[in-house]
Amino acid sequence: MSGTPYTYHGPEGEALPLVFDSPHSGTEVPPYVCPAAPREALMTGSDLFVDRLYGAAPRHGCALIAAAFPRWMIDANRAPDDLDAELIDGAWPGSINPGRKTLQGMGVIRRYALPGVPVYGRRLAVAEIQRLFREHYEPYHEAVRRELDQCHARFGAVWHVDCHSMKSRGNAMNDDPGRERPDFVVGDLEGQSAEPAFVACAVDTLAGMGYRVNVNDPYKGAYLVRAYSNPGRRRHSIQIELNRALYMDESRFEPHQGFDALARNLEILIRALAGFVRARIGREKRGKP
Ligand SMILES: [Zn+2]
Repeated sequence: MSGTPYTYHGPEGEALPLVFDSPHSGTEVPPYVCPAAPREALMTGSDLFVDRLYGAAPRHGCALIAAAFPRWMIDANRAPDDLDAELIDGAWPGSINPGRKTLQGMGVIRRYALPGVPVYGRRLAVAEIQRLFREHYEPYHEAVRRELDQCHARFGAVWHVDCHSMKSRGNAMNDDPGRERPDFVVGDLEGQSAEPAFVACAVDTLAGMGYRVNVNDPYKGAYLVRAYSNPGRRRHSIQIELNRALYMDESRFEPHQGFDALARNLEILIRALAGFVRARIGREKRGKP
């Protein structure tokens, strides 16, 4: 692999402090990474095509950043110390702070692709893990952080949408095994990562198009919204999970006939969120609260 481990599409026309990121839609694997799990098992953890589904974002004044690398290789939506000691060959030089998901095999570097299906089937050397951080995880986070910081510096506020897709039913590694999922799950860390009106704008726009929308159930948001949100300092982040059955054949990993309609509806969502942000910064320019 060459170049940056992410794609960046900047705003076209009038820029708004609204940033979309897609950390799990990448598929590029460098030649030095050799998983043991079958491709089909690895692909189930991927939010395939999510970057394309939100492809209209730049036309509405928003930056769109998407990881080029797959989540199974290194997960940009986990904290850097959320490591699985069982996966490391040797002594890790930093601190290790595995979360609950990590103990289920879904840490920053995944141990399991699917229940009972190890990604590598061996431990990784410290230097291998450090290279994954250096060449993939860290540049992705730098790109997201830079964009959010530049927007915040220019406008005094920033709104961030962390974009994902979810299997239509959870498996044994998920918090809701076997349960049928709604069309969308909007997460705000139980009210901690964004102003309620921004969450409501997303939820109401989606529900207004007839989608079944949950809030924080079963997904509240994870590292990306936690790391970059601070509503008290006017940094607002939400996570949006969308049901893969809306746009892809989940066993063949291909878009299906619903893809274009979903992309059009996501453009309606993007336009609504852009309108929200424009009103927020416009209102404040005129000195109202
Ligand atoms: Zn995801």
